[in-house]
Amino acid sequence: MTGAEFDSRAGYRMQRRENFDDRMVSGSSASGEPKPRHPAPSPQALHRLDKLLGSGQVLIPGRDEMTRYETDVLGRRHPACWVARPRDVDDVRSVVRWAYAERAELVVQGANTGPVLAGVPRRGGHQGVVSMELCRSTIDVDVVNRTVTVSAGVDLETLNEVLGRDSLTFPIDLGANPSVGGMVGANTGGARLIRHGDVRRHVLGLEVVLPDEHATVLSLLSGLRKDNRGPDLKQLFIASSGTLGIVTAAVFGVDPVPLQVAVALVAATDGEDVLRLLTFLEARATERLSAFEMLSRPTLEAIARHRPDRMPLPLAQGRRLPELLVLVELNDSDIATGGHQGLDEELAAILDHGSAEGWVDDAWFGPPATLWALRNAAIDALRQEGPMVAFDLSAPRSRLFEVRERVMTLVGQIAPHARYADFGHVGDGGLHSIVIWPDDMEAGRRDKERDQLRTAVYELVTAAGGTFSAEHGVGPENESAFRRHTPPEVRGLHAGLKSLFDPQGILGATDLS
Ligand SMILES: Cc1cc2nc3c(=O)[nH]c(=O)nc-3n(C[C@H](O)[C@H](O)[C@H](O)COP(=O)(O)OP(=O)(O)OC[C@H]3O[C@@H](n4cnc5c(N)ncnc54)[C@H](O)[C@@H]3O)c2cc1C
Repeated sequence: MTGAEFDSRAGYRMQRRENFDDRMVSGSSASGEPKPRHPAPSPQALHRLDKLLGSGQVLIPGRDEMTRYETDVLGRRHPACWVARPRDVDDVRSVVRWAYAERAELVVQGANTGPVLAGVPRRGGHQGVVSMELCRSTIDVDVVNRTVTVSAGVDLETLNEVLGRDSLTFPIDLGANPSVGGMVGANTGGARLIRHGDVRRHVLGLEVVLPDEHATVLSLLSGLRKDNRGPDLKQLFIASSGTLGIVTAAVFGVDPVPLQVAVALVAATDGEDVLRLLTFLEARATERLSAFEMLSRPTLEAIARHRPDRMPLPLAQGRRLPELLVLVELNDSDIATGGHQGLDEELAAILDHGSAEGWVDDAWFGPPATLWALRNAAIDALRQEGPMVAFDLSAPRSRLFEVRERVMTLVGQIAPHARYADFGHVGDGGLHSIVIWPDDMEAGRRDKERDQLRTAVYELVTAAGGTFSAEHGVGPENESAFRRHTPPEVRGLHAGLKSLFDPQGILGATDLS
């Protein structure tokens, strides 16, 4: 691991303290006011919930402070009509049985770092929150099986701290500190997906409470890597955005901690050169390529303006910033021994070759933590530039830069006063496209341009074989895109699964029908 998590999480904590509501284009939920499936529970029903769990585990409006459970990572607040904080699977079942009997709608919340409104109540004040933050009793490491059984409320940082004692790691790496349940619900990707895969690749088992009359527990907590007793039901809950069941525990396959890490920043002129670098790295460094992250010049300029402390010296020293900058990381669980090339030398040789061939303009090595700090400053710096909308796109890598060009053209046509910047996990075909409006532009016009852009960008990325949701899942934020771009027969199956697992439609902020 690099020291990046520390830096990035410090940035994340800063975001949570500030309120970014004024930085986001207003009303960014594309779905409008929802119609409640069920009304909010009565005061008597809330009294019954209060009695179910011990003291301090149920929060009620007017009596308790609930703001942090109602407010998402971008500062958007949707009131909750209750909050429950179960400690274990029995508590979760009690809340679910109560909710079923009262027809009370509930949203499962982990660390609340998701940016698509899937972990906070819908607008309307009729939904409650089941926060999993107290479900943290178990982190059980099986060193020989190379697995960990872990409660849903445990956060990534704590999990990796415990695994680190046995030189193991859960290799999901991102600029936030999510919970186990939230990572399963959203199928988190992160910066090392290119080498280690997403959360789905690591889930060997799950324990899930279904939102049915009996709060049925699906005990799929297997630590097996081979298991063909039938269809793999646990897969249904991964990336389901908290709509089918409440994950109370997971078994993850984990990896050895890398013993060698080499990181470089590489300047390139255009997308073609970036892709040449990527394919050459994959051919030469093979599975040792562990991150391939791109930042474009407008993103670097925003970091230089708002987070100059995160600019590594060679970039900060008044030189013209490159058009595209790629953070490349190699890692290895082996150590370099006499006669064997270390990763730094291997990376330097690859970049020398790229320079001789003309597809590497310049390259800088440095301490991994310093170089990752630059990468992880991107979103925070861009948010300070003005009201913005962020697209979470992905496309086949072979078409990613074509999609990028066309998105930039659309921005010029639809929002001529806005600026475009981007960054992302380009090695995995991911791109966060950011559109920033001038501070003084009239809000109604901005909202109109945002809606037009959303429609046009999602059309074009879908036509190019890509998706409107690369790694953040579906939430109320992009329900309308889900409806528009998912074939009716697939949506029909989603609806069938939903009524099977959740017959009263009480679970989740997101409507995937
Ligand atoms: C600065 C920053 C950087 C980020 N970078 C990345 C990145 O690189 N890659 C990436 O993929 N994501 C990224 N994210 C998004 C986010 O961190 C992930 O989606 C994360 O997995 C959400 O986990 P959470 O615990 O915060 O879940 P929440 O935000 O609380 O919930 C997310 C979803 O999971 C559901 N859920 C939560 N707990 C459970 C449970 N126990 N059972 C069932 N469903 C549950 C919720 O209902 C919701 O639908 C980033 C976010 C921030 C703020």
